[in-house]
Amino acid sequence: MAADAVVEPGRGLIALIAHDKKKPDMLAWARRHHGRLVRHRLVATGTTGAWLKADMPDLDIRLMKSGPLGGDQQIGALIVEDRIALLVFLVDPLSPHPHDVDVKALTRLAVVYDVPMACNLATADRLVAGL
Ligand code: PGA
Repeated sequence: MAADAVVEPGRGLIALIAHDKKKPDMLAWARRHHGRLVRHRLVATGTTGAWLKADMPDLDIRLMKSGPLGGDQQIGALIVEDRIALLVFLVDPLSPHPHDVDVKALTRLAVVYDVPMACNLATADRLVAGL
């Protein structure tokens, strides 16, 4: 995948991440908001992005590494570089994750840099409506 893809400078990327049990929710959410998402540049962790791309090939999605392999940290780095306008991270609070520390670090950076962040569908629906 294009894990080493160069992401162009400038804020405006929408970052999409979903834990495994939340991937069907992410897919349904993206389908619902396809008309908006298709007008933006997206970035996603590897597996989430692959799901989205397979279903909606017209979406402009840069794929980072898979979350457990550092993808969350790559998106964190984009936050630090002021490139992320919105982060949708559908977390599964009922399952253990080997990369929990990365998830915590990403959440922390979103707070530090004041990036709008949705961790559930209700918030994601509201934030995407403002795009
Ligand atoms: P994935 O990563 O999209 O590669 O599954 C998401 C995550 O669990 O952080």
